Amino acid sequence: MKYASTRNPEIQVTFKEAVFRGLAPDGGLYHPVSVPDLRGLIESFSGSHSIAGIGAKLTAAFFGPEISEEAAEGICRRAFTFEPALVSLPGAGNIGILELFHGPSCAFKDFGASFLAAVMEEFLKQEASRAVILTATSGDTGSAVARAFHKRANINVVILYPSGRVSPLQEKQLTTLGDNISALEVKGSFDDCQRMVKEAFLDRDLNERLRLTSANSINLGRLIPQAFYYVYGWTRLSAADRKAGPVFCVPSGNFGNLTAGVLAWQWGLPARRFIAATNINKVVPEYLTGGAYSPRPSVQTLSNAMDVGDPSNFERLQAIFEKSRDKMSKLIEGVFITDRETRDTMHSVYAETGMFLDPHTALGVCAAKRYMASRQAKAAGLDGAPCISLSTAHPGKFIEVVEEATGKKPPLPQSLARVLDLRKESTVVESTGAELKKFLYEKFADQ
Ligand SMILES: *Cc1c(COP(=O)(O)O)cnc(C)c1O
Repeated sequence: MKYASTRNPEIQVTFKEAVFRGLAPDGGLYHPVSVPDLRGLIESFSGSHSIAGIGAKLTAAFFGPEISEEAAEGICRRAFTFEPALVSLPGAGNIGILELFHGPSCAFKDFGASFLAAVMEEFLKQEASRAVILTATSGDTGSAVARAFHKRANINVVILYPSGRVSPLQEKQLTTLGDNISALEVKGSFDDCQRMVKEAFLDRDLNERLRLTSANSINLGRLIPQAFYYVYGWTRLSAADRKAGPVFCVPSGNFGNLTAGVLAWQWGLPARRFIAATNINKVVPEYLTGGAYSPRPSVQTLSNAMDVGDPSNFERLQAIFEKSRDKMSKLIEGVFITDRETRDTMHSVYAETGMFLDPHTALGVCAAKRYMASRQAKAAGLDGAPCISLSTAHPGKFIEVVEEATGKKPPLPQSLARVLDLRKESTVVESTGAELKKFLYEKFADQ
C-alpha cells in the first residue's frame, strides 16, 4: 500500500515515510491510495477476539508487506494493553456505548497514540536509529502521547506546555513519567509552545543533528488504528445485529475518529450509517445538510476537546467521497447538540441508569437518540437498527462538569488518581526558539 497527499496524488510515500513526516510536504494529509477488500477477514472475527488480535490481523493485511505478520503482532501486543467495552444503555432502545477510555490516559486517543508509538519503535529498531518527538500541548492530548511513548526504545519525547495554564491533574500527567519523557514548562501561552515547536522543525542545523518528528493527531499512524475498534464493536453485537449492521455515532471535533470509522466501512465493515455528532462548532453538519462548508474560529463549549472550527480531517473525508456532498451524506448524518442538551443528557442518563457520562460521550448519546428516533432514520429503514455510540473519555476526567450536571462526583480512574501522588519534574524555559534549541542540544546532542 502507498500513501499520497490529499492535495496531490502524485506525491506517494511508504507508511514509514508518512509516519515520520506527519504532514505531506505540500501541506496535505497522507491518505491510502487504494481501498483493500478486507470483508472476509472482518467477518472471520468473533466476539472472543481481543483488540490486539483484531488489530494485528488488520495491520498485517493493510500495511503488508511493509509490516510483516510477525511485526504486526508485536506492535499490536505492545500497543493495545487495554480493551474497549461495549455496554448497553438501559432504556435507550438498541443503543449501546462503546467505551474507549480504558487506556492509560483514559481517552480514546490512547488507541492512536499507542499504536503510533509502537510502530515508530519498530521502524527505529529495524534501522538502529533514534528519534526525538516534539509536541506542544494545551493540556489534554499531550498526556496520551506521553503515556504512549513512555519507555519506548530509541525514542525521546519532549513535551512543551504553558506554565500555569493547564489543570493540576493534567500537569501531573505530563511531568511525572520521567525516563524518556521530558516536560518543558514554557513561560508563555500554548501558541508560544506551538511556535517554538514549528521553529525547531524549520531549523536546518538542529534537523541535521537530531531526527525530529511529531506525533500529531493528523498522523496516519494515529488515524488507521482507530478503525480497529469499530470492527471490535461490531464483533460484540448479537449475531442478528451483526448481520443487520450498526449505525455508529461519533462525537467529533477534528474528525479523525469518524474518518477512521469510514475507512473500516470502506474495507468491508457492514456499518449502515455514521452520525457525525458535534457541539455548536457545527461546520460539518451544516455542510451535510446542504449548506456551504465554512470553517471559522471555534467557540468554547462543555465538550472542549471538540471545539474545532476548521476540522483537519475534513480534507480526508473529501478525498474519500471525491468531494461529493451527495456521496458523503448518503453515509454520514450530521447532528449538532447544544451545551444545554449535553448537560441534560448527563443528568437524565445518571438519574435513570446511575451511569456517569463525560460531556463528549453525553453529546454523542444525545445525538444517537435523536437520530435513531427521527423520520430520516425511519425513511432509511433504520427503525430498531443497532446503534453503537462511541464513548471518548472517562467521566472522571471532567469531574467538575459531570458533578455540576448530575449532583454527584464521578470516581477518578485509578490510573489518574495514582499520578496525583507522584512528584512533578519539569524544566522551566523562556518562550523562545533559542531556549528550546539549547535544551535539545544539551540533552540529546551526543546520541
Ligand atoms: C479528541 C477528542 C474528541 C474528538 O475526536 P476527533 O477525532 O478530533 O473528532 C472527542 N472526545 C474527546 C474526549 C477527545 O479527546
